[in-house]
Amino acid sequence: MNLRTKLHQFTYYLFPGQCILCKSLTSRALDICLACESELPWLGNCCPYCAEPSTNILPCARCLQQPQTFSATLCGFEYRFPINTLIHAFKDSQHLCSGYVLTHLAYERHRKTLSNISVEDLLVVPVPLHPRKSRARGFNQSHLIAQQLAELIPATLDQTLLYRVIDTPDQKNLPLSARKKNLKDSFQVARNLKGNRVLLVDDVVTTGTTITEISRCLLESGASDVVVFAVARTPP
Ligand SMILES: [Zn+2]
Ligand SMILES: [Zn+2]
Repeated sequence: MNLRTKLHQFTYYLFPGQCILCKSLTSRALDICLACESELPWLGNCCPYCAEPSTNILPCARCLQQPQTFSATLCGFEYRFPINTLIHAFKDSQHLCSGYVLTHLAYERHRKTLSNISVEDLLVVPVPLHPRKSRARGFNQSHLIAQQLAELIPATLDQTLLYRVIDTPDQKNLPLSARKKNLKDSFQVARNLKGNRVLLVDDVVTTGTTITEISRCLLESGASDVVVFAVARTPP
C-alpha cells in the first residue's frame, strides 16, 4: 500500500463517506459499503462480443450470425435493480457519486483485461450526445465515465473525435429495425484514425445498435480495432 492510498484511507476514517445504497457511513475509499457491493447484480457469464448475459461464455446466436463491428464488450453489471436506479440518479438527477462508484467498480471488474490492452495508440472515446441533449442534461454521462476510465487505466481521452450530427428520437421507444434506420448517418468522425485503437465508452448497452453504428464509422475512418466499455448491459 503506498502513501497516497494510506492517506486516502486516513481521510475516509476521519470523514467517512456514505453508502450510495443503504446510506450507512463507510470508511472505504468508495462510497458503497461492502455488504451492498457484494449484493450488486454483477455481470457473470455473457457473450464475449456483445456481453449479453448468458448461461455460458460462448458467442450468442446474433453475434454468430452477424459478426460485430467491435471486437469485445466489457460491462460491469446487469442493468437491473439497483443498477438501473443508480444510473437513473446519475443521469437524470446529476447524482455524480453514483456514476463514479459504478464506473470504478466496472473498471475493477475488467482491470486485468484493460491492463492487457496496449495504451499506445489507444483512444478512450465517449458515445456522444447531440449538443441539444447535452445542454438539456447539463453533461454527457458517457463523457464523465470515459474521463474517469482514462484516468484509471491510464490512457488518452479523446472527446472531440466523435460527433452526433443528427438529434435522433430516443432509441428505447423504437423496434430494432427502426433503431438502425434512426441512427444511420447520425455520427461523424473528426479525423483519420489510421493506427489508432478505440475504447468506446457508454453508460448502458441495450440492443447494441448505437455502438455497432459508431464502431462501423470508426473502422471506416481507419481505426484498427474497437472495444466497448459500459457500466451495465441489459438482460436479453
Ligand atoms: Zn450499503
Ligand atoms: Zn453477442
